[in-house]
Amino acid sequence: MADLILSPLGLGILGLLIGSFLNVVVHRLPAMYMREWWRFDLAEFALADARSWRAAFGARDEPPRELAAASEAIKRHLDGLAPLTLWRPRSRCPECGHAIRALENIPVVSWLVLRGRCSACGTRIAWRYPLLEAATGILFAACAWRFGASAQALVSCAAVALLLPMALIDLEYTLLPDSLTIPLVVLGLVAAAAGWTPVRWGDAATGALVGYGVLWAFGAFWQLALHKANAMAEGDMKMLAGIGALTGWQPIAGALFLAAILGAVVGVGLIALGRHKREVPIPFGPYLALGGLAAVLFPQAIGGFGESLAPLVGL
Ligand SMILES: [Zn+2]
Repeated sequence: MADLILSPLGLGILGLLIGSFLNVVVHRLPAMYMREWWRFDLAEFALADARSWRAAFGARDEPPRELAAASEAIKRHLDGLAPLTLWRPRSRCPECGHAIRALENIPVVSWLVLRGRCSACGTRIAWRYPLLEAATGILFAACAWRFGASAQALVSCAAVALLLPMALIDLEYTLLPDSLTIPLVVLGLVAAAAGWTPVRWGDAATGALVGYGVLWAFGAFWQLALHKANAMAEGDMKMLAGIGALTGWQPIAGALFLAAILGAVVGVGLIALGRHKREVPIPFGPYLALGGLAAVLFPQAIGGFGESLAPLVGL
């Protein structure tokens, strides 16, 4: 039974089901984060508002009443919302509110049978939903194919289930939630310590530090030497720390090169096509995810790729 579940077919089917859940994660996690931000900003604002206003604009000046009214209105709006978690409320069509039934929630199949439309109102359902399910299924199957019926296959699947939503959320919102990046670091360190992967514990810990440090150093250099805004967000650093913890430090350079090359090619392509403005930051998470997935599935090859490119940058 365990062999069947851990076969490429078994893990592929599990991947389709997990991919269906990842759609919920990609859809709701950013909303959950942003609601927290609004709440936090509001609390800060209510506390600092009068004092900072006077400090900034004059001791006898009062903050305009519209400010207090606006913050009160946003607070009321937030308090009036039904709580949003990954589990509640159940999925509904955003257009007509039709509750998605179990039969309409079969990964990929339901979308094909419904021909990409809501069964109640006929509104189009984006193709990225079945695409994420299919991608998760294929990558889970690839983990089983690469590592056989083993703990390493399951660890790699867990990494896939964290890296894919990171890529999509960063692509859409330039946001890498801690609730995805930190578990990736923990997964890597625990897997190495428990001997679930061939990565040695020391290499995993070094990998986490090197992954974080290399992007931190790059961002600091960019800021200090070139007087530009820091190009690296902390989320990117935590994400590469997680990749390093999973694979050990050896494939980090290769994964990073691969991510940078992909990012540069796509970025230049989008600018050339006029689809992207030069000033808008390009999220790095999607490319880190691709580099990370390659490093998880093919650590030796990505390690070798990094070494072969080292002379090009004078290392
Ligand atoms: Zn509908």
